[in-house]
Amino acid sequence: MAQQTVFSKIISGEIECQKLHEDKICIAFNDIEPQAPIHYLVIPKKPRINLLDCENEDINLLGHLLLVGKEIAIKKDLKDLRTVINNGSESGQTVFHLHIHFLSGRPMKWPPG
Ligand code: AMP
Repeated sequence: MAQQTVFSKIISGEIECQKLHEDKICIAFNDIEPQAPIHYLVIPKKPRINLLDCENEDINLLGHLLLVGKEIAIKKDLKDLRTVINNGSESGQTVFHLHIHFLSGRPMKWPPG
């Protein structure tokens, strides 16, 4: 089970965010330290540490997070974007509550660092 994190505090309203979307399943908001001109996160309200913490029962949840992120991209008229999920410290995860990064507005390199 996920521990209290900055994102669980955003969900509870303890910490403010620049909200882009909220429904009963998820919240989307701008990243506080953007790594591209457009950088927002979509997080589930359900406590999940990362993708590795998800179960088969989360199939609709995971689809919902991606589709909400896509709808925001369409509203912002984004043509190209990168989606990232970091899973574990070595991959770059710093907040241990599942989140999908959506980045756009500059050329992206591959492979990622
Ligand atoms: P990760 O490194 O994949 O765990 O990503 C965590 C992301 O959360 C980073 O890009 C941070 O800049 C972002 N972040 C941390 N605290 C906040 C906050 N209070 N509001 C918005 N984004 C945040």
